[in-house]
Amino acid sequence: MFGPYPKNKALCICGALTDLDVEVVKRKADLGKRVECARCRNKRIAQEHESLERHFLGITDEEIDEMQ
Ligand SMILES: [Zn+2]
Repeated sequence: MFGPYPKNKALCICGALTDLDVEVVKRKADLGKRVECARCRNKRIAQEHESLERHFLGITDEEIDEMQ
């Protein structure tokens, strides 16, 4: 039996199929956001957290590129 929230398979940019509520997929599309699997979402959150930390330290991404 299906629950009250139908699930929709959505393709993540990494090629993984992820199960999402149809409403979530619709809302993301309305916002122009891409669908992400749990792994990509965790990765993105970690990257955003890192860039936020750099921002607080006063280091820009350009400076990071120069260091590498
Ligand atoms: Zn993914």
